[in-house]
Amino acid sequence: GSTIGILGGGQLGRMLAMAAAQLGYRSHIYAPEASGPATEVSAEWTKAGYDDADALARFAESVGVVTYEFENVPPAALDRLEALVPIRPGKRSLEISRVREREKTLVRDLGGRTAPFRAVGSLAQLRDAFAEIGAPSILKTSSLGYDGKGQVRLRDGSELEQAWEAVRGALCVLEGFVTFDAEFSVLLCRAESGETAVWDTPENVHTHGILDTSTTPARTLILDQAERAIALAHKIADELDHIGLLTCEFFATADGPVFNEMAPRVHNSGHWTIEGAVTSQFENHIRAVCGLPLGSTTRTGARVEMKNLIGEDANDWPEILRDPAAKLHLYGKHVRPGRKMGHVTRLF
Ligand code: ATP
Ligand code: MG
Ligand code: MG
Repeated sequence: GSTIGILGGGQLGRMLAMAAAQLGYRSHIYAPEASGPATEVSAEWTKAGYDDADALARFAESVGVVTYEFENVPPAALDRLEALVPIRPGKRSLEISRVREREKTLVRDLGGRTAPFRAVGSLAQLRDAFAEIGAPSILKTSSLGYDGKGQVRLRDGSELEQAWEAVRGALCVLEGFVTFDAEFSVLLCRAESGETAVWDTPENVHTHGILDTSTTPARTLILDQAERAIALAHKIADELDHIGLLTCEFFATADGPVFNEMAPRVHNSGHWTIEGAVTSQFENHIRAVCGLPLGSTTRTGARVEMKNLIGEDANDWPEILRDPAAKLHLYGKHVRPGRKMGHVTRLF
């Protein structure tokens, strides 16, 4: 059919729906919240919960393919949908990338490097893992974390009990702290045929665990390791038989690229591609899930910078509009501290 089902109602879903509309597709959003950035630009939305079997069945019937903008779709909902309609990227991509230790284990099995890590399910296990990995390290919830939420940094063993309380007994990984020179991501789109498209690797700067800026081209120290990281991303995508966008975050270290995490979807570090590349991450994702050929990822500017507008930053929007190099994106959300309100891309 000519309607694409999107699970999730946030800004990623919004930008997917906008790209879909440009190609003549309608979008049907499935999101429990009554409204959101994605529902405002889509033809239809279902605001039922992911446990509502009837709503899921009606949603599946109304669309030709289902994709998603977040990786925490409950497995039972996926199973229900999968029986009725193709889901792209597939279930395996979600199963792996939903859980930190699974994605790190897969990457290691494929010959990639990760921080030292241990799965932790109790305070006793945290003590054991800390004895092995040592300080500094980071305790992260295995699932549901984003923008650095659900993470506790550990400098010494006296903080273990407090850290375990902070994550409220959720399943976690303890990760050794990686000394890095810079951070970057690989944005790869894979079609059903196995054809892939890769954009320039943006250099990403995070502030308080939240992405602040993504810049292309990245500095030489990143470009020198990008090829190895891209080769690993290809291996991951092939192994998962992934269809659509796959984003892999890396640390650039003195010993080469270290894999941090991945997302089976479009990603904040790829927002620059809307104006900064011939085909955006959103358009190529839609093309891939609809079985269309992928578009060119060639950069359209000598230098492209994306800056997130977090919380009150968004109040500066009239000023941004006066900058001839700036393209402003606002997601239509109410301001809250630490919330991603929009972004601005500058082409030079
Ligand atoms: P996202 O919004 O990207 O999904 P997240 O909550 O999943 O974020 P991570 O990507 O794991 O969090 O971590 C956020 C940031 O914290 C990283 O980009 C990096 O700057 C820092 N960080 C995370 N893990 C490590 C590590 N093992 N060593 C050093 N820095 C780290
Ligand atoms: Mg993450
Ligand atoms: Mg991250």
